[in-house]
Amino acid sequence: MSGNGPSGNGTEPRNVIIIGSGPAGLTAAIYTARAGLQPLVIEGEPSSTSDQPGGQLMLTTDVENYPGFPDGVMGPDLMQSFRVQAERFGAEFLTAKATRVELSERPFSVWVGDERRDGRSVIVSTGAQSLLLGLANEERLIGHGVSTCATCDGFFFRGQEIAVVGGGDSALEEATFLTRFAQKVYVVHRRDQLRASKIMQDRAFANERIEFLWNRRVVEILGADRLAGVTLADSRTGALSTLGVTGLFVAIGHRPNTDLFADWLDRKPNGYLITEPDSARTKIEGVFACGDVQDDYYRQAVTAAGSGCQAAIDAERWLEAQGH
Ligand code: NAP
Repeated sequence: MSGNGPSGNGTEPRNVIIIGSGPAGLTAAIYTARAGLQPLVIEGEPSSTSDQPGGQLMLTTDVENYPGFPDGVMGPDLMQSFRVQAERFGAEFLTAKATRVELSERPFSVWVGDERRDGRSVIVSTGAQSLLLGLANEERLIGHGVSTCATCDGFFFRGQEIAVVGGGDSALEEATFLTRFAQKVYVVHRRDQLRASKIMQDRAFANERIEFLWNRRVVEILGADRLAGVTLADSRTGALSTLGVTGLFVAIGHRPNTDLFADWLDRKPNGYLITEPDSARTKIEGVFACGDVQDDYYRQAVTAAGSGCQAAIDAERWLEAQGH
């Protein structure tokens, strides 16, 4: 664990505590640090999931659509650059997970285990996680044939045969998008009925490059260094078959990391935090939210970074209005 200085436990509260360190949190850190607010970033703990420091980009390889990198950039390298930039202006990092928050009075309190940190304002940027199938090889092959983001990775599958798992709007949207690149896209769905909206279904059914594999579950992900195919099981008979695809897009939904805030902040029915329109303000004055934790629509690194900037400016102006 790192991060000394004015901790707020018994002494001066921090001006800003940022929880989460993906593109949104680190952009908020750059802006608030540069404004002289000495933010404390509780960045998460290293793990193989997307709530680790750096967020979902730590699970990707090449990022080709982040502006400013004409030759592309590796996701982890991009996040490291964000972090170094925030540190340069005085942001402090605590490599740990926030375990509890208390937002009923100011200063707000954020706990890391038994240790309490107080902040005059809090920026929530804990992100979201793509749901995964939970199969062996799945996480290891992310970035090597397995993906949870068609917008990010579709380009790498030009002319190939790939599969999308899921039967909701995300799966059909991704499948339709992926036909721009892939020669053939199989949609593997565990039932014989889609959950997706009619318009998405019609679009997918009309697309010659999409083939539906109904009543099938992916039960095995094949490949050592790269995806080599998947084993499918028929949901009704259990019969096994192999599908020799070079790409597998898992599109079975996302889960925002909002459990910590359930008692405090308003959430949409799907769990995402609610912010006021065109701002990062939540229903609690002095608590702001940015990035994927409050965005179930765009979910891009660049939009997350943009909303991190908004949160920082909102926090800065709010603190100023409070006389800090
Ligand atoms: P979703 O609607 O929850 O659909 C998830 C799909 O994945 C379902 O078909 C589900 O199967 C399947 N699934 C879940 N767990 C699975 C597992 N372990 N193995 C195999 N399949 C599994 O999620 P979503 O598609 O991400 O959509 C989320 C929300 O965003 C929805 O409200 C959607 O309308 C919205 N959205 C809108 C758009 C758009 O309008 N452009 C685009 C994307 C998302 P079952 O059907 O059998 O449960």
